[in-house]
Amino acid sequence: MAALLSVQNLRAAYRLANGVELHAVDDVSIDLREGEVLGVVGESGCGKSTLATILALNAAPPLYVKSGTMQVQGRHADLTESDPLPRSERGKLISTLPQSAMNAMNPTTRVRDLAYDVLRAHERTTRKAAWGRAGARLEQLGLPTRVLERYPHELSGGMRQRVITVISTLLDPTILIADEPTSALDVSSQRAVVEMLKDLLARKIISGVLFITHDLPLLRHIADRVAVMYAGKVAELGPTERVINTPEHPYARALVGSILVPEPHIRAARVLGIPGSPPDLAAMPKGCRFHPRCPLADTRSREEVPPLVEVGDSGSHFAACWRTLEARQLLAGNLVGGPDGRVG
Ligand code: SF4
Repeated sequence: MAALLSVQNLRAAYRLANGVELHAVDDVSIDLREGEVLGVVGESGCGKSTLATILALNAAPPLYVKSGTMQVQGRHADLTESDPLPRSERGKLISTLPQSAMNAMNPTTRVRDLAYDVLRAHERTTRKAAWGRAGARLEQLGLPTRVLERYPHELSGGMRQRVITVISTLLDPTILIADEPTSALDVSSQRAVVEMLKDLLARKIISGVLFITHDLPLLRHIADRVAVMYAGKVAELGPTERVINTPEHPYARALVGSILVPEPHIRAARVLGIPGSPPDLAAMPKGCRFHPRCPLADTRSREEVPPLVEVGDSGSHFAACWRTLEARQLLAGNLVGGPDGRVG
């Protein structure tokens, strides 16, 4: 399947006032395919929101991209540059759906004027034309046009998030970067936002979604593939059902094992939690970054960084773990992918 977005060897760091650099994203290479939702999951501090910020072209000091390129619909962008893509093209290529609609909306601005502000930032338009376009899009997605007259505080949390989803996609962006768009919502509002994103894809208003979340079960409802991030690196990547049902990386297994389930007997047997916490960015462990928390860590894990390589026979499932590779006897010259971590 053709890649809409292809990111190569992305490294990024936060630079402190004393010159120390905290490496938040380290050698990440991922593709987002046409019509796909790629979920990015991990604990807080694993680099997923930093990744979202960079790919949304919003990186600003103290965050610096050290290396990395991106291809979006045939356009090449050097992510180390301050303006990787012409501003005139950005809005139609990439848009961001933020976590908290309330923070993204000016409380003194009606929805209709927010829509106007967004559209006129990217193209010539009039208030009347912008209001008409926003109203048509609301109707298309099954929302009442009367919300155009409302201020953000007059909408429920779920409606605000759906309205900001409409505003974020008014320019029909090719790619939507959704950064924890449902984490502040109740379950039914989460479902409404997920259904709206699916609807936007089905109608080809958008062509692909990078969906950042810490909620692994939610990805079952929306993501085609999942990338599990740990300490700035991709630990596992594959089709959603395979990653959730048969995770290969010990960290992905631990995340799956932490999912809360309603049945007490299953919960007692299965919910294990993950001991410890992600590493301090200022003191990243040598070798595999998960080794201080990993029950399977061995000498090699503590010394050498495991490459992200194929772990199945479908050409679509990858993991970065020495023990997984050894167990599958992939080390006998049968590596697919390679130490650069490039996967499709
Ligand atoms: S490489 Fe070693 S420490 Fe890292 S996840 Fe695999 S077994 Fe655990």
